[in-house]
Amino acid sequence: MVLMLGLLLPTLSFADTVKLLPSAVLDGETNSFKPGWGVVVKDGFITEVGPVRSLSSTDTTQNLEGLSLIPGLIENHSHVLLHPYDETGWNDQVLKESFAERAIRGGKHATANLMAGFTTLRDLGSEGAEYVDVGVRDAINKGVVDGPRLLVAGKAIVATGSYGPKGFSPHFKPPLGAEEADGDDLRRITRDQIGHGIDWVKVYADYRWGPNGEARPTFSIDELKTIVEVAASSGRQTVAHASTNEAMRRATLAGVRTIEHGDGGTLETFKLMAERGVAWCPTLAASEAIAEYQGWVKGKDTPPNRVTEQQTAFNNALKAGVTMCMGSDIGVYDHGDNVLEMELMVDYGMETKDVLQSATSINANILNMADKIGSLKVGLEADIIAVRGNPHDDISNLKNVEFVMKMGKIYKGNVK
Ligand SMILES: [Zn+2]
Repeated sequence: MVLMLGLLLPTLSFADTVKLLPSAVLDGETNSFKPGWGVVVKDGFITEVGPVRSLSSTDTTQNLEGLSLIPGLIENHSHVLLHPYDETGWNDQVLKESFAERAIRGGKHATANLMAGFTTLRDLGSEGAEYVDVGVRDAINKGVVDGPRLLVAGKAIVATGSYGPKGFSPHFKPPLGAEEADGDDLRRITRDQIGHGIDWVKVYADYRWGPNGEARPTFSIDELKTIVEVAASSGRQTVAHASTNEAMRRATLAGVRTIEHGDGGTLETFKLMAERGVAWCPTLAASEAIAEYQGWVKGKDTPPNRVTEQQTAFNNALKAGVTMCMGSDIGVYDHGDNVLEMELMVDYGMETKDVLQSATSINANILNMADKIGSLKVGLEADIIAVRGNPHDDISNLKNVEFVMKMGKIYKGNVK
């Protein structure tokens, strides 16, 4: 009986065909805004893009006058199971929040990201919450909660002894923020994580386990290669956390797809990354947020080492021509404020147009999903947002999201 009632519930409502009529459309081919263009969506896919007069007639139209139409934004480094560390420190989130609380927060955070125009998130680690991220992803896909399409990394892999929470009596073993594995065991652990439904394999190529608590490399190149090889065999890519130059170098040589943070990257290492096609997600906003939580007042105090290092690394990466990934480490700061990372990418020296490309077609390419998302092109899934103003004039215009469509379904701005 319950099942039969289930059948009576309405399914996700796609309009048969809808025509989106904004003031301008971002054309991925020329990377420019075309005034007077529109987009037709049918059954969740983009079927036409071009001058409005050339578009077929549709069941409904969506008036988006005054707005710029762009692909749904892609966040390539999120943590939907974390919330800002100035609210609750990372240790306390890992050790004191129940999985139920973290899952509920995860759902709310996912919705906040979607409403901010981010229709895809690569979520890089549950930080102690086992495979709750896999569950949040599946719940979104079932329509239990509104959220972006999530690509999750599950527990993530760390070298024994390197990760936190730390600072306890040696006899007490607290639950960790990621799964420990080493040597030959990496093969089994990587496979086990894949078996639990992750989309990406995440490894910490370094962490703060030096004699003075500084970041030092963890895994050898061979260990990293083992992880990458197992992941690749399963059709998955590997992402490495690395803030030291040596860990970046090892991860690059091992064949990871992206490197996260990369504060200590030298010009030579960024050149190696460019050669090997390894992209970089600088996570500038997280570095600045953490410095601010520790008392730094931006614009008043001299920037701390972490921030000046990031600026140097950014200059090196631009000089080396590394593929720039847009990944903000959202969760360290407020979900929905992801555009802050893009504003900083501009402040640190990137062209506004390039930053928007990073968060759309380039990030889609990094995900191996350029045939599905990241551009307004015929045949792609209809992940489309509209913002007031032109983001090429000012990247901050991306904060003015007035319309959000994911896979053809409208989540925000359905004005009829
Ligand atoms: Zn992170």
